[in-house]
Amino acid sequence: ASRGSLPAFNGVGTTSDGHRVPLLANVGSGKDAVAAAAAGAEGVGLLRTEFCFLGRDTEPSIEEQVAAYGAVFEAFPGRKVVIRTLDAGADKPLPFLTDATEPNPALGVRGFRTDRSSPGVLTRQLEAIAAAAGSHESDVWVMAPMISTADEAADFAVMCGAAGLATPGVMIEVPAAAIMSRAVLSRVKFASLGTNDLTQYTMAADRQLGTLASLNDPWQPAVLQLIAATVAGGAAAGDVDGTVRSVGVCGEAAADPALAVVLTGLGVNTLSMTPRALSTVGAVLASVTLPQAQELAALALAAETAAEGRTQVRRKLPILE
Ligand code: PEP
Ligand code: MG
Repeated sequence: ASRGSLPAFNGVGTTSDGHRVPLLANVGSGKDAVAAAAAGAEGVGLLRTEFCFLGRDTEPSIEEQVAAYGAVFEAFPGRKVVIRTLDAGADKPLPFLTDATEPNPALGVRGFRTDRSSPGVLTRQLEAIAAAAGSHESDVWVMAPMISTADEAADFAVMCGAAGLATPGVMIEVPAAAIMSRAVLSRVKFASLGTNDLTQYTMAADRQLGTLASLNDPWQPAVLQLIAATVAGGAAAGDVDGTVRSVGVCGEAAADPALAVVLTGLGVNTLSMTPRALSTVGAVLASVTLPQAQELAALALAAETAAEGRTQVRRKLPILE
């Protein structure tokens, strides 16, 4: 089959031998969520809440937040919706949270770190998420961006607990958190790999610079090794207390169909992407068995360069030709 003739996504992500990998959507608003549901997304794997409030000079009220999050839940009744708390800073500045004069914003007070500089904003956001979740049927998971340490993960879990939110998780997008994933994940219930930032920080290459695109490539074997380490860390944390940690991917890597197969082979158990990628990723995933995906993952992981891994894997996926 050529790419042009791939069937529309039927709403159930799976390999050809029946290994389920829910395919979720990345969204920034209730409107996006409606479109994602129409495209067949099985749920939301990333609600970028900062997108709901970009351009605002002041913190949104709890009522405004309840309405924004409720609109997303509304589109996915009974489905999983992963809400990310405000990821302000660097490429997504919010005037009420971040300092525009920081010399190096990608390494600055961004994401979860803004809880130190602006205490209270995150607590109120969690309160709003809990209120919106309380009047909808979605299965609501909440995660913090830019977690670097086990202590930060523990602090976030305590804050979620205080708000009555039962499923706290973290984004793994800082190499330190991937390396320490067993300890980090032992503090929370799930992880979602943010491969955009994980690649930027692993390769020390600004994700906003097109001139560095060859470094900013999630096929870089160093990035894949950190993803594999995170899956292993999640399993190890689960072995200690008997609670399985879901480890998903919500960065752009999940929207690359060949890489989606590799991620599945590495043991990632959900893929969240821009809705327009769902049909291609769904079709390519359905063209391989889990053992084949594992074989391709081993090839990509063992490659010495990004190009080598990508070429070798794509060559073994006839559906992409
Ligand atoms: C990521 O870093 O991969 C991610 C999903 O978050 P964002 O692109 O919003 O930083
Ligand atoms: Mg990120």
